[in-house]
Amino acid sequence: MSLKIQMETKNNNQDPKSESTINFVPTNSALSWDEYFMLQAMIAAFKSKDPATKVGSVFVDKNNHQITMGYNGFVAGIDESKVPWGKDKSAPLEFQKYGYVVHSEANAILHSSRSLEGSRAYVTLFPCNECAKLIASSKVKEVVFLSDKHQETESNRIAKKIFDLSGVTYRTLNFRPEILGNLTEHLQNLLTDI
Ligand SMILES: [Zn+2]
Repeated sequence: MSLKIQMETKNNNQDPKSESTINFVPTNSALSWDEYFMLQAMIAAFKSKDPATKVGSVFVDKNNHQITMGYNGFVAGIDESKVPWGKDKSAPLEFQKYGYVVHSEANAILHSSRSLEGSRAYVTLFPCNECAKLIASSKVKEVVFLSDKHQETESNRIAKKIFDLSGVTYRTLNFRPEILGNLTEHLQNLLTDI
């Protein structure tokens, strides 16, 4: 008996409805990978102590595995009681946060334990030119951003020039607002299960 006839004989002896659909429940993930990693970046931003601007980033490999994350914060190990969070630029740089803060992307790159070549970076805010230097030099392939609110600044233009000249692509992500409501419900359900 040929393999084809054997298979047809076997199939004819089964009721496809009764066996192939047992315990099959239609379901979908609540998030795309883009939304999942942007949410991770948003949670990383939530960890920042910066009272004015909280930024987060997550770097991901081609298999959608997270490589590293970061948020904006003071230099690691510094005595934080000795440096200011204020951003008043009328004070000398020594008395502004800008003298001491490490950006989220820089922190993520600094603390990565493996190469970021070919990775995607999810950022809550479009990178500044200093972080763009690090991202492009790390051979990151793509930057996905939530906000580009500083697009009129020189730093933003330079960042895009760096990306364009080095072949780093960038795109915005339209984060579906209903995700936040669904996530809140999900978290509340987890907490009531304790
Ligand atoms: Zn930066």
